[in-house]
Amino acid sequence: MQNKPNIAYFCMEYGLDEELPIYSGGLGVLAGDYLKAAADLDLPVIGLGILWEQDYTQQYIGEDGRPYDTFPTFDFDFLTDTGITVTVNIEGEEVDCKVRLVDKYDNAPLYLLDTNFPESEHGWITSKLYGGDDKDRLAQEMVLGIGGVRALRKLDIDVDKYHFNEGHAVLAGVELIREKMEAGMSFDEAKEATREEIVFTTHTPVRAGNEIHEHRLLQHMKAYNSLNYKQMKEIGDNPFNMTVAGLRLSSITNGVSDLHQETTKEMWKDVDDKAPIIGITNGVHAKTWQDERIKNAYEAGEDLWQPHYELKQELVDYVKEVDGANLNPDSLIIGFARRTAPYKRSELIFRDADAIDPLLREGKIQLVFSGKAHPNDDTGKDIVQNLVQMEQKYTDSVVFLENYDMDIARKMVRGSDVWLNNPRRPLEASGTSGMKAAMNGVLNLSVVDGWLAEGPEHGVSGWLIDEVLHEEYNHLSEDEQDLRALHQIIYDEVIPTYYENHEEWKKMMQASIDMSHEQFSAQRMVKEYYDRLYNITSKERDKDFEAIEVITESIEEVHFPQHEM
Ligand SMILES: *Cc1c(COP(=O)(O)O)cnc(C)c1O
Repeated sequence: MQNKPNIAYFCMEYGLDEELPIYSGGLGVLAGDYLKAAADLDLPVIGLGILWEQDYTQQYIGEDGRPYDTFPTFDFDFLTDTGITVTVNIEGEEVDCKVRLVDKYDNAPLYLLDTNFPESEHGWITSKLYGGDDKDRLAQEMVLGIGGVRALRKLDIDVDKYHFNEGHAVLAGVELIREKMEAGMSFDEAKEATREEIVFTTHTPVRAGNEIHEHRLLQHMKAYNSLNYKQMKEIGDNPFNMTVAGLRLSSITNGVSDLHQETTKEMWKDVDDKAPIIGITNGVHAKTWQDERIKNAYEAGEDLWQPHYELKQELVDYVKEVDGANLNPDSLIIGFARRTAPYKRSELIFRDADAIDPLLREGKIQLVFSGKAHPNDDTGKDIVQNLVQMEQKYTDSVVFLENYDMDIARKMVRGSDVWLNNPRRPLEASGTSGMKAAMNGVLNLSVVDGWLAEGPEHGVSGWLIDEVLHEEYNHLSEDEQDLRALHQIIYDEVIPTYYENHEEWKKMMQASIDMSHEQFSAQRMVKEYYDRLYNITSKERDKDFEAIEVITESIEEVHFPQHEM
């Protein structure tokens, strides 16, 4: 890291703290962790985002055991008003966006655009994260992208690189092109010059999960921003694909783990004129997620069990308080907290009732779940409902904590013994909750997808389902195979180690922290961004890219199952 270019990072959501609920999940928490790590390292980074009046849902469980959504509004008086307002033409109307500053979480400065103030006629635009229809989404993205660049100009902040975290921000690229054309460049010149300024991080491992918009809607909303159809199509195709636009507007793109890099390359192989794709694995902000007591004991070479047991007791107390269940701190606790998207298979462990039933009845294992479904996702809500039914069946050994947020995440990744993760492959681009757990000595039990291909070693610093898949079961579905392997690991390895080999368990906790505390930290990620995304000349980039191509050619083709998200 010789040079320190100034970075403007754009993201739709930020998870800095639960008291500022402008995030929905992993993407936002990653962005929040990034800003904190950049501040720790004293790097010239600033963030741009939106001040959502409501986050995407506060979700509770109703009498019928089904989740329902509430949308409380927040007033964010504790944020600093910069006094700056920028204007974006949306659907023919001049929309004022106020700019507020967040810098109270030891984070690099975060500027949030807000159309939702008392005298505003356009409060709808920033009212709800991922709410509304295509038109609302596009308006939000215009505020973030076009408004974001204009805010930088008004704040008089010099920027060397614009980093788009996910495709929502690509209209900032269109604004950068427009600025240069206004100053006299041709479209082609402006596009080339703009590309050199942009880097892009993509997160979605399935094509259907990438956002597209009809050109008619773009035109109607004035999202062309003075460009024409031909130019916009050249950037994002027809229909306009936000990820494709990111690939074409950036000088370099990264996937969020080594495996995801492969998936991304395969998924977009037909897109012409795109940036080279590399892999930079996500990381988490240790100070936010790793408990001090664990950190201190680890650094002093002291026994890890004592601080772990305290954290476990705190989780048990919290569960008692909010849920009423009586967990036993001397029995094994397995944690699982995720969005309830079907591919994450939250309920997989229950599908072999004969295997799980006695373990839960005897209290040999206790399962603590949390997670939200998207408000419009009935399948996701069915999954929550199933988990709640399990809780009712196994009082005191299965728990579902409602309204998953950063506070619950923190308690769970610190206080569980094991962190379970069993998505269908290759649908977990990275995954970060397991990194948080690993740093606390909470052992990952996981499918090998996303970061896990680079993380825990089976039987040493966690357990990997892929390591015990039997060839004789190859004819079974992925779900069936994983289910068998999962129960085999629980029965043969997790339970005996936990109950009969305490020394071995503590060794694994130690190994888990060794493996994760630097390699999967957000500080490592930010340094890698500087080394491999921001600080790289076109020439070095091409060399780096060639080297990477050689490596990846020798890696087996990634397999793409055709299942739903
Ligand atoms: C860390 C975190 C996530 C992301 O976890 P994954 O393992 O990527 O699913 C989502 N939501 C919250 C609140 C988190 O803290």
